[in-house]
Amino acid sequence: MTFDYDLFVIGGGSGGVRAARIASSEHGAKVALAEEYRMGGTCVIRGCVPKKLMVFASSYPDAMRQAQAYGWDARCKAFDWTRFRTTLHAELDRLEAIYARNAEAAGVTLFAQRAQVVDPHTVELADGTRLRARHILIATGGAPWIPQKFRDLGAWTSNELFLTEELPRSILLVGGGFIACEFACILHGMGVEVAQYYRGAQILRGFDEDLRGHVAAEMAAQGIGLQVDTDLVDLERLPDGRFAATDTRGARREFDQVLFATGRVANTEGLGLENAGVRLNANGAVVVDEWSQSNVPSIFAVGDVTDRVNLTPVAIREGHAFADTVFGAKKWHVDHALVASAVFTRPEAGTVGLSEEDARKRGAVAVYMTAFRPMQTAFAGQQSRVMMKLVCDRDSGQVLGCHIVAPCAGELIQIAAIAVGMKATKADFDRTIAVHPTISEELVLMRDPVRTD
Ligand code: NDP
Repeated sequence: MTFDYDLFVIGGGSGGVRAARIASSEHGAKVALAEEYRMGGTCVIRGCVPKKLMVFASSYPDAMRQAQAYGWDARCKAFDWTRFRTTLHAELDRLEAIYARNAEAAGVTLFAQRAQVVDPHTVELADGTRLRARHILIATGGAPWIPQKFRDLGAWTSNELFLTEELPRSILLVGGGFIACEFACILHGMGVEVAQYYRGAQILRGFDEDLRGHVAAEMAAQGIGLQVDTDLVDLERLPDGRFAATDTRGARREFDQVLFATGRVANTEGLGLENAGVRLNANGAVVVDEWSQSNVPSIFAVGDVTDRVNLTPVAIREGHAFADTVFGAKKWHVDHALVASAVFTRPEAGTVGLSEEDARKRGAVAVYMTAFRPMQTAFAGQQSRVMMKLVCDRDSGQVLGCHIVAPCAGELIQIAAIAVGMKATKADFDRTIAVHPTISEELVLMRDPVRTD
């Protein structure tokens, strides 16, 4: 059988581009990649990168309030969304160009159009060109999902927020996950009046209970209108374009805009995977084994389209492992067990390993925890508190989980993840001399457990 390419990648996001570059430049494979929208994918174009820049943008009013306490004559006037947005999109254009340039420099042929699968070795481009490849990699990511009955009303998902020409004066965020919580803090920081409805008892389901409670309390203390045990039952578009939202408590409130952060689904619709007999799960994600291989031996998938751990660095690792395994001499796969992550709320939340609740399911635990007002903001008279928590195996002392809520939690958890990944024990933490004065020194200064089984 002759092939046009050794590898055809569908999707130019983090996972697809990494796989394409490694297969081509390190293993000499002949590689092509098709992207229908913009190179860089969710992370670069409408996810992590613009979100983090918005986190920075939204942090200045608070920084100015602190600056005043430190003696500066400083204050934030109105936030100019248009000016920020222009610079933001110029930056995204720059990053997109780098993505494309790096892929081409690695020898990857790029097609700026949609591709779909015709059979286990054939893809068809939007212009009708058919190409044959020894291997096909599906790296099409995911897309925001809105409950059926609220579609077609013009409500936003995170995608629309990045593109809007004007910020609303008031917004309702629906959901209690990463995206809802991050945007609640971002938009509140930008001066938007924010309400957030979450249907469950506490936001950030799946995270450690203490972390969830601490983040929720900090968000509410800032003035974010977070309402748990509250879901949207009816949404009406008013003649003036605003929204009237009725919730499960019977309240009817009006908002300039509503943003659904109610989860994401794998981008597999219309991809032709059924033509090749590729198995999808009930949510439409490609079912793969630990080698990212689907039930069709020539078709692999990495990243959010597989709905494993939906984070950019995981997709990159999966893409790299796939390329090394299939085209190189080194076979390896990603360990999804100990993936650290951060939620960029204000303050941030960082986590690695098991929550106290999950750790207790596997055996007896000892829990160390501290919460305090950090020096910098306490000086400015602010009541905000940080939280550090270590969940340890009671008998061996191994740190099974580390949970931090602090302004720099994303940075801290990256380092803590190394120790937790190396199976550090509480004794290892205790042996480490504190770096003073820092927030993170408390991680090595917690003496007595707050709870022991
Ligand atoms: P999540 O799955 O994190 O959260 C979805 C939220 O929507 C949950 O609170 C869920 O409630 C709620 N929900 C789901 N369906 C409904 C419904 N029908 N009605 C009302 N509420 C509903 O999804 P996100 O959209 O926040 O984020 C998607 C993924 O993107 C994340 O899981 C993460 O992997 C990734 N991400 C990572 C970031 C980071 O690393 N900082 C930032 C942003 C995204 P319930 O809990 O009850 O199910």
